[in-house]
Amino acid sequence: MDFKKYVADVPDFPEPGILFRDISPLMYNGKVYEAATNEIVEYAKNLDTEMIVGPEARGFIVGCPVAYKLGVGFAPARKKGKLPRETISVSYDLEYGQASLYMQKDAVQLGQRVLVVDDLMATGGTLAATIKLVEELGGIVVGTAFLIELTDLHGRDKIKDYDMFTLMKY
Ligand code: 5GP
Repeated sequence: MDFKKYVADVPDFPEPGILFRDISPLMYNGKVYEAATNEIVEYAKNLDTEMIVGPEARGFIVGCPVAYKLGVGFAPARKKGKLPRETISVSYDLEYGQASLYMQKDAVQLGQRVLVVDDLMATGGTLAATIKLVEELGGIVVGTAFLIELTDLHGRDKIKDYDMFTLMKY
């Protein structure tokens, strides 16, 4: 399937000069959404995945159906102030400024095999932060999976030690 047909290119969003890759058309089409999900499910099966972790918010959209199909749990990595119980957090640099991600302390079990899933990897900052949270909780990151990888930004270099599956590259 030509998944790129279902990604809308949006110039100058959210800021001038940025070309945003919008996955909405893929999500709006049930057959395409299912096919994309299945690609990640097959990858996850080979890794004996026991848990999916996805960062807010599109990581939920991509990660939850994968977890459902595998019959494993899903744990969100969320922005500040969203999780009700005890959390750990990690701060990371954005192009301008800083961001933080949080996970609840009991989200991942010691030694659990975790696949980190998001819609898109750009600089890899969000991915590196999510990996850090999972590992701090004692999980083993067995792989990472994205619908889209922006290769020019060399996010892969940040996480050389981890296996990665990407459905589309730009
Ligand atoms: P990174 O941390 O790798 O620089 O940025 C990746 C994060 O930003 C992901 O969580 C992703 O959802 C979001 N993101 C950045 N650029 C885009 C884009 O062009 N399209 C989409 N769909 N998400 C983006």
